[in-house]
Amino acid sequence: MGVKQEDRDIAMQTAEQLAQAIKEKAHELGFELVGISPVSDPPHEQSFADWLQEGYSGEMAHMARTEQARRHPDTWLPWARSVVSVAMNYYTPFPHEPHQASAPTGWISRYAWGEDYHTILESRLDALFGWIRHTVGDEVQGKVYVDAGPVLEKGFAGLAGIGWIGKNTLLISPKHGSYFFLGELFLSLELLSDSPIRNRCGSCDLCLKACPTDAFVGPYRLDARRCISYLTIELKGGIPTQLRPLIGDHVFGCDICQEVCPYNVNIEASTVPAFQPREGLHGPELIPLLALDDEQFRSQFKGSPIKRSKRRGFLRNVAVALGNLGSAESVSALAKLLSDPEPLIRGHVAWALGQIGTTEARAALHEALDHETDPDVKAEVEQALTADAPSR
Ligand code: SF4
Repeated sequence: MGVKQEDRDIAMQTAEQLAQAIKEKAHELGFELVGISPVSDPPHEQSFADWLQEGYSGEMAHMARTEQARRHPDTWLPWARSVVSVAMNYYTPFPHEPHQASAPTGWISRYAWGEDYHTILESRLDALFGWIRHTVGDEVQGKVYVDAGPVLEKGFAGLAGIGWIGKNTLLISPKHGSYFFLGELFLSLELLSDSPIRNRCGSCDLCLKACPTDAFVGPYRLDARRCISYLTIELKGGIPTQLRPLIGDHVFGCDICQEVCPYNVNIEASTVPAFQPREGLHGPELIPLLALDDEQFRSQFKGSPIKRSKRRGFLRNVAVALGNLGSAESVSALAKLLSDPEPLIRGHVAWALGQIGTTEARAALHEALDHETDPDVKAEVEQALTADAPSR
């Protein structure tokens, strides 16, 4: 395929004009926000190191494993000269609905309502890279990252002027808020860089106050071990008992520190079909989810970010949410799971039944005590039988 004259013209242009042409192409490919930065150490690399040192990353061992690469990208991409950072809005305008006692519902983080964003952003960034090589020449090297790989994404996006890192540790655009996915294209090309924009949080601290688990140890500092997103997605084992009541109805992720942010008011909704909510994921009914076996879970959440939690993690979260809702309607479905092969599920179901505390719930717990052999689950059952159900 021959190179078109207009593309040849772009290739002959200055670093500034080429940067502009790349940004226009990225917009054409559906990225609302685009910016360019040099491949330097991200500005918050030291605070990232301090964050790891404090243990705030919890069980996310991959963060510590890739610390040096994240802090010093030139050490592993020595050929890279510029980073094109892109953002795609995933916001859809559906509110958190009130619960109905007969059919308790939970909350899934907005980003997980649609299809898996990795493939969507990757394919568009691949297309952008293909266009650049086609236009400038096949000698251009490039590498695409979307929320994977050792990249401090928000740092690069901030350097590129897409937004600033807010007190809630998320990247915020003054016009588009924070509901977007980020991606990067590292290039061997020298391009004119954009400038960072100023931080506009000012004296606001709504996100810090709104967090139900007090996960912010201060502005710009998140203890992931208390964050509902971490607890319901990243954490593979049991959720600490003292944090369970604070998780509310969240069954996969949390949006609270974004929902309260003034920059997320009156933002435009995404029209990308893949980011529209799959049926049942906006305010999902919780009781039917308890009946999913492994195969049904995989099939229902194929191509969805939710598959990451696996059935064991997801049902653990659903049980905690039902316990927090005090859902008497869910007791018989929960009680069946006291015989589930997965101890993680049995333990959290026991906790939920203890929180619900009805006669039926307590009878199921007594019965479980007779046949439970796993010492950790048995301890959960005993604890649940001594727990006072919270007054609602
Ligand atoms: Fe910044 Fe306020 Fe938004 Fe938090 S809620 S990120 S402090 S503007």
